[in-house]
Amino acid sequence: MWFLGDKMNCSKCNEKAVICLQHGNLCKQHFLNYFEEKVFKTIKKYQLIDRKDKICIAASGGKDSLTVLYLVKKYLQKNRFNCDLFALIIDEGIEGYREHTVKDLESFCKKNEIELKQVSSKKEFGYTLDEAYPIVTKETKKKPCNICGVWRRYLINKYARKNGATKLVTGHNLDDEAQAVIMNLFKANTKLAAHLGPMSGVQEHPLFVRRIKPLYLCTEKETRLYVILKGFEVKFTECPYAQEGYRAQIRDMLNDFEQKYKGTKQGIINSFLDLLPLLKEKENETGEISICEKCQEPANQTVCNACKISEVITNG
Ligand code: SF4
Repeated sequence: MWFLGDKMNCSKCNEKAVICLQHGNLCKQHFLNYFEEKVFKTIKKYQLIDRKDKICIAASGGKDSLTVLYLVKKYLQKNRFNCDLFALIIDEGIEGYREHTVKDLESFCKKNEIELKQVSSKKEFGYTLDEAYPIVTKETKKKPCNICGVWRRYLINKYARKNGATKLVTGHNLDDEAQAVIMNLFKANTKLAAHLGPMSGVQEHPLFVRRIKPLYLCTEKETRLYVILKGFEVKFTECPYAQEGYRAQIRDMLNDFEQKYKGTKQGIINSFLDLLPLLKEKENETGEISICEKCQEPANQTVCNACKISEVITNG
């Protein structure tokens, strides 16, 4: 897929094309229709939303979360689903970055009449990410993204559940998922891979809110173009820690491959979706969810990863 200059017309009408996809060129209006239809079809095909659900959207203020907020609300209205919907943002405490995305999200939610709840890592754990990571990295060599990921998953699940949500929507797109598949493959982590897919998780559990990914089949570039064409106010700023993680290297590698061999990322997702039922079956037979003995939140072991990080900070 690539963006066009002013040379080509839409394959469906005579308007100027804004994008070239494998199945043809699309003008602005036909691209917007195509993108929205793809998201709505994903929701239907994987039965991501039920009319009885209470929906929490894990938002960051970035392009993916604004898109998913807007389109889930549109899907509910289009299908006359009377579901409650709210957005939840975790402020990890990343100076020079998170305060800007929070502002963008606040104005977007106000404009679109979506309730917004905020939770801060500082209030919950006593430290911002900026304060915690030098201590944790010194003791464990963990990167900021490892800490951030553990905190975010913990807080999003906890506060979605506390607010009565039955589904937790995330803005993960096809690129994010392809990166996660390859990361788990490279690290031989089939257990974590089994938790991927358009609807995450393997088993129902009263302490876990099931995560759904309506943008699962939308690429990063498509989402970016959608945001630009819709005129959503988003700054496309990058987190200062984004280049430090393992994921950033996988992302660059996949982008490089995609440029040389079109369809690489879609190929990863198609193969993964074929394998996913087998992975889930295997994990269902062996995996057990425990309760953390310190905070009583769900955990893989006796103490959850968030409490382990807190222990390192206290002893560091
Ligand atoms: Fe957190 Fe890393 Fe994402 Fe920054 S790039 S928000 S530290 S996961």
